[in-house]
Amino acid sequence: MFKLSKKLSELPPYLFLEIDKAKRKARAQGRDIIDLGIGDPDQPTPKHIIEALYKAAQDPVNHRYALDQGMPALRSTIAGWYKRRFNVTLDPETEILPLIGSKEGIAHLPVAFLNNGDYSLVPDPCYPPYKGGTILAGGRVHLMPLLEENAFLPDFTKIPFSVRKRAKLLYINYPNNPTGAVAGKDFYSNAIKFAVKNKLVAVSDLAYSEMSYDGYQPQSMLEVEGAKDSVIEFHSLSKTYNMTGWRVGWACGNAKLISALAKVKSNIDSGIFTAIQLAGIAALEGPQQYVLDMCRLYQERRDCLVSGLNALGWKVNKPKATFYIWIKIPVKSKSIDFAAVLLDKADIVATPGVGFGKYGEGYIRMALTVPKERMVQALERLKKIF
Ligand SMILES: *Cc1c(COP(=O)(O)O)cnc(C)c1O
Repeated sequence: MFKLSKKLSELPPYLFLEIDKAKRKARAQGRDIIDLGIGDPDQPTPKHIIEALYKAAQDPVNHRYALDQGMPALRSTIAGWYKRRFNVTLDPETEILPLIGSKEGIAHLPVAFLNNGDYSLVPDPCYPPYKGGTILAGGRVHLMPLLEENAFLPDFTKIPFSVRKRAKLLYINYPNNPTGAVAGKDFYSNAIKFAVKNKLVAVSDLAYSEMSYDGYQPQSMLEVEGAKDSVIEFHSLSKTYNMTGWRVGWACGNAKLISALAKVKSNIDSGIFTAIQLAGIAALEGPQQYVLDMCRLYQERRDCLVSGLNALGWKVNKPKATFYIWIKIPVKSKSIDFAAVLLDKADIVATPGVGFGKYGEGYIRMALTVPKERMVQALERLKKIF
């Protein structure tokens, strides 16, 4: 019968599907599950963005194929936003490419740069598409461990010279999913130096730049002088405006990198629904109070969860950004087993660290995507079993 491609069989198992199955089974049994597993905002998209979609969807002009390279108005809105937010100047014609969610672009990028057997340098633990996209493009993944003792930053000096010679892409993601770690300009400069020296494309995933706390402001890798020679940065409206389901994001940076990604995409998709692009413009140009309110909400939840866990004797740090709490498992247990105990004994879903890669073993991730009352309930349940 059908035989699957070698690439498909090489993809790491998608652990999250298994967790989802277990969760659904527990719910079907009528159990009251508190889901701290998924990184998906629980709050609705702000109303003015929905109104913009509603209005645009009624205009037949917007029912036709969109332009592959995105609406000029969206591209110039993005340029304006980057200028205001990071003081980075981008040419809307050549240095910005709207995407059907940033995951799409992140996963397609390797097709443009990897030949069979070339390496991507990928942090571990990480957001899964860095690995998946590399393997589907026929490339190989070299893992850069993100260790607590290095503040969850990769150590480039540990990458063997044999790998550097065949490496093409360097993935960097701060604020980081799943560890919640952050990085500043010094780290970015270093990463860019390493990329230039080894002729790598530096891929910066900045999905969480607007989700930060205690006055901390994440930076863009493109703020580093000379960054535009080697950097492509991915951005998304998903987390900033509670728009995960809408599928709109973008890539920006070096014009050659942008046009290479655009070429791949022009063979695969036909752009973002125009009405959604117009709603994206409304998001970026409309009132930004919603973003501040979102941060305040997550910050309250963060403080509640972290101090509650620490009161149990767990040793948990408060992240400065992202809506993830990366938790060292307080007992001797594999992350999958520990997550299973949380589900069985406390009806709590958390994500086992190993789902993000082998260096995530020993940790679980909890997301701040449930109301504070539910968090308090979760903490009470944990107190009973630990
Ligand atoms: C959520 C997330 C994204 C955004 O994905 P979209 O496809 O834009 O919804 C990108 N990178 C990381 C690390 C994420 O966690």
